[in-house]
Amino acid sequence: MTDQGRIDGRTKLIGLTATPIGHSLSPAMHNMSFRELGLNYVYMAFEVDNKQLEDVVTGFRALNLRGFNVSMPNKTKILPLLDELTDGARFAGAVNTVLNDNGKLIAYNTDGIGYFRSLKENHIDVKGKKITLLGAGGAATAIAIQAALEGVKEISIFNRDDEYFNRAENNTVIINEKMEGDCIANVYRLEDKETLKEEIAASDILTNATGVGMKPLEGQALVPDPSWLRPELIVSDVVYIPRKTKLLEMAESVGCQAINGLGMMLWQGAAAFELWTGQEMPVEYVKNQMF
Ligand code: NAD
Repeated sequence: MTDQGRIDGRTKLIGLTATPIGHSLSPAMHNMSFRELGLNYVYMAFEVDNKQLEDVVTGFRALNLRGFNVSMPNKTKILPLLDELTDGARFAGAVNTVLNDNGKLIAYNTDGIGYFRSLKENHIDVKGKKITLLGAGGAATAIAIQAALEGVKEISIFNRDDEYFNRAENNTVIINEKMEGDCIANVYRLEDKETLKEEIAASDILTNATGVGMKPLEGQALVPDPSWLRPELIVSDVVYIPRKTKLLEMAESVGCQAINGLGMMLWQGAAAFELWTGQEMPVEYVKNQMF
């Protein structure tokens, strides 16, 4: 069925706010899923900077959108404009999905949820495990907070000495002092290679949540040598272009299970889709169509 035939007087609108927006895969992913399941929804991207955000949210409320995704630079700025924050959004201080529940706008962060659903799809149970996490930006923060919510036992966060290091410290304070549960978070400087090596050796999972490995840093990895890895270690990367980063190549060379960021991207969308429609996204269909 074409979109033209599908859209009628009852079609529900799902939005996306961000700028720049044109590169986003979300409109294609959601619209092909609505079509495949015969759901009367349409997903539209809107170029929105932070100055326009309040008006846009007011407009979305007035038009009674079923929900929307939020991307950069709006993910943090939108927090005070929403009615209710789930733990993932509140503790990460960022929102990527909003559900309109009878006029109440509820904020979620499905980036972290998507990352852990991707691990689950790869038969990995993270309860009681130790993770070494590289990075403290948007993706890393969502993963760190969701790790604590998922029952991870310990998380060691490494960030280089840049403007994100404070955020790494802040994320550990949130996990250790503000969140319920037993997860312990530690923070280290990425420049401290000896500690990085020790923490990787003591971990079940190593996660790269920095852009190192994708353009313009393609071919680079924050782990200097495959000898730092061992076959039992699970190595994952949030990067999905290229599908196999230098880190994942190194991981495979020593026999580790290696997981790229494609699953995180798909499953963050699937989690949002489920919130809006109450139905599961046809993930296999989307994978076949898009990748
Ligand atoms: P960000 O700008 O918020 O954070 C960047 C992080 O990378 C910081 O921790 C920074 O210190 C670190 N960093 C940057 N350059 C570095 C270098 N040369 N050496 C060491 N550390 C470095 O970015 P973000 O939004 O968190 O995105 C990070 C990566 O995650 C990007 O590659 C992005 O494409 C990817 N991502 C993937 C998904 C997914 O669904 N798979 C979702 C979001 C982001």
